[in-house]
Amino acid sequence: MRWENLTDESEHGRAADAALFGADAVTTRTFDTPEFQGITFHEVRARSVLNRVPGASRMPFEWTVNPYRGCTHACVYCFARKTHGYLDLDTGIGFDTQIVVKVNAPEVLRRQLGSPRWRGDHVAMGTNVDCYQRAEGRYRLMPGIISALTDHANPFSILTKGTLILRDLDLLVRAAEVTDVGVSVSVGFLDAGLWRTVEPGTPAPERRLDVVRAFGEHGIGCGVLMAPVIPFLSDHPAQLRATVRAIAAAGATSVTPLVLHLRPGAREWFMAWLGQHHPHLVRRYERLYAEGAYAPKWYQRRITRQVHELAQEYGIGPARAGLARRIRPAEPAPAPTEPEPVQLSLM
Ligand code: SF4
Repeated sequence: MRWENLTDESEHGRAADAALFGADAVTTRTFDTPEFQGITFHEVRARSVLNRVPGASRMPFEWTVNPYRGCTHACVYCFARKTHGYLDLDTGIGFDTQIVVKVNAPEVLRRQLGSPRWRGDHVAMGTNVDCYQRAEGRYRLMPGIISALTDHANPFSILTKGTLILRDLDLLVRAAEVTDVGVSVSVGFLDAGLWRTVEPGTPAPERRLDVVRAFGEHGIGCGVLMAPVIPFLSDHPAQLRATVRAIAAAGATSVTPLVLHLRPGAREWFMAWLGQHHPHLVRRYERLYAEGAYAPKWYQRRITRQVHELAQEYGIGPARAGLARRIRPAEPAPAPTEPEPVQLSLM
């Protein structure tokens, strides 16, 4: 790993984030429990955990906190994969199994929030990798992070696929009494076969919708980022309808569709998966993504229009947020145009 070679002077996420780790601060650990089999944790002591988002003017947030690098949720399409390469870690299976843990994230965040230079800006979490991935069950960094933000009445948002967020429901309710809190869950589709192969480490889509439901039962508005919509695999009108209907039934206060994009790092991994599981689609994908990382505008518009029409039909909208206290859905970023790690990883 070349963490030790990076300086903290670059404004790019790559060097700035990697520079948080001194080489002597890395402790490597494995655990025998079945849920962590084959996974290696690299525990580091970060110098800073508040990351400024380059090009923030085009993002709905300017600051992020990412207590982990790599993600055991292992989504094939995840384009945070590329950031693992910056640490000389493998962007394929290595991203899924070599997890960097900033073990001192809560203390460092508390110190940074208390700095006279900090202006109390909104802090987004889950925009790079999932802060409620399995590792969080063992390291329990989020309660300290939420408490630090709450004690400083600092607004924040969380986007996740992890049902583990329910563990911290009470903390989030308490936070919402003193500041603005946004919560969104990512559910791109319901198809069980697709889920098992393309998001193999995540809780099932229905379990994620249970999270939305649980937040609603506590009077807390929770949005759904319907991402990714995967061309030819989850974009049939009947599939879109079933997904939006389930999102509505769970009580989501909003639904925001996002079509799959394939940036370098994710593209190779996804296309290899496609060749293995759906070889007949490879040529169609090469044509659809011929211009680069994004599906054509006409395709994106079509999906967006269909989902918005369905959302209207099923009554998803701000009116449902009536019960929400100061918790509202986390704002997803627009289609990413900035270098890693600022973009949304299709959480
Ligand atoms: S898309 Fe989100 S949940 Fe999936 S691997 Fe990437 S960071 Fe983890």
